[in-house]
Amino acid sequence: MSKQKKRVVAAMFLLVFAVALVFSSVFIISHAHHNCTEDHCETCVALHICQNLLQNLAGGLKAAAIFAAPLLLLCALLLGSERLFYGKSLIINKIRLNI
Ligand SMILES: [Zn+2]
Repeated sequence: MSKQKKRVVAAMFLLVFAVALVFSSVFIISHAHHNCTEDHCETCVALHICQNLLQNLAGGLKAAAIFAAPLLLLCALLLGSERLFYGKSLIINKIRLNI
């Protein structure tokens, strides 16, 4: 898969994620004071589906944060150590000695 297609797929996933998050939240907020009078209420079923969706998305974000945080910290440490060790060389600073 080319880089452009990966970006499009990632953008589509992000869009679906954002739409699901926003519309589920709006539905729950708009039906917060729902008075249920039926045994098999479709509104209550939809509310439970939205609630489960938000909980699953939050769980996924939590898991992603747990796995991404050490990785980002490791990358920051590696980049920092690279600059610490290699940032002061004559070649990187483009200083010529044979003038
Ligand atoms: Zn109901």
